[in-house]
Amino acid sequence: MPELPEVESVARALSPALTGRRAGEARVLSASALSRSPLPLTCLRGRTVERIHRRAKYLLFDFSDGYGLMIHLRMTGWLGVREGRAWPRDLAHVRVLLRLNGDERNPCGWLVFRDVRRFGRLWCGPREQLARLPERTGLGPEPLVIPASEFAGRLRARRGRLKSLLLNQRFLAGLGNIYADEALHGAGLHPQLNAERVPAARAMRLHASIQDILRRAIRAGGTTRRDYFKPDGSPGWFKRALKVYGREGEPCRTCRDGIIRRIVVGQRGTWFCPQCQPRR
Ligand SMILES: [Zn+2]
Repeated sequence: MPELPEVESVARALSPALTGRRAGEARVLSASALSRSPLPLTCLRGRTVERIHRRAKYLLFDFSDGYGLMIHLRMTGWLGVREGRAWPRDLAHVRVLLRLNGDERNPCGWLVFRDVRRFGRLWCGPREQLARLPERTGLGPEPLVIPASEFAGRLRARRGRLKSLLLNQRFLAGLGNIYADEALHGAGLHPQLNAERVPAARAMRLHASIQDILRRAIRAGGTTRRDYFKPDGSPGWFKRALKVYGREGEPCRTCRDGIIRRIVVGQRGTWFCPQCQPRR
């Protein structure tokens, strides 16, 4: 599932191609994709894309007149742009198409939402209304924005295992399984440690590790394992930089001594190095 770096990469890739273009015809081929949207997709018609950005794992399209489109890619959602008037019949698993009229160079194109497994969702309507949806209201702070001292304070106030806490979107928004494991490895912290027992200095180190991993992953365009691809169809190449995630039984790339282990924490597969991340 796309996490913060993947969603950020999609937003950055789409932004230059779509900003300033005006929404036209909307085609919803799979109604379930918009089943929880406050308004139908036609509400965007005639409105201009002003900005494309991200909050947690949600893509946010700001349209003129205070309107917005919010998208969660979930397991297999993919967004891309197809230039030209003809709608892209050659693409399989297309769920939603939104025509975007532009300038003389690209007079007409489509924002294409494909989704093999159909878990992805779109919401549209006034941005104020989108911000009040239950999906958005409970989200915790952004990991690239929260100051280290505030992060350490939040951590100290919580009980529960570090790994589970990092996945909790109310505690911190945007991390998923891959980057939680990588961040804990970078900080030398065992995934099953109790959050309240992590000393302040190590909490600061975890904060730095989270930011470092996320920044490097964004630069790499995210991590492609199976389903995630950038809008131009190319993979993100951060997979080659992963130190623990999915590497059970392989030697640790940091200490070169430990063998990566897989355990289950809060029902999620969790990879760590017993040498670099002792349970103490
Ligand atoms: Zn190690």
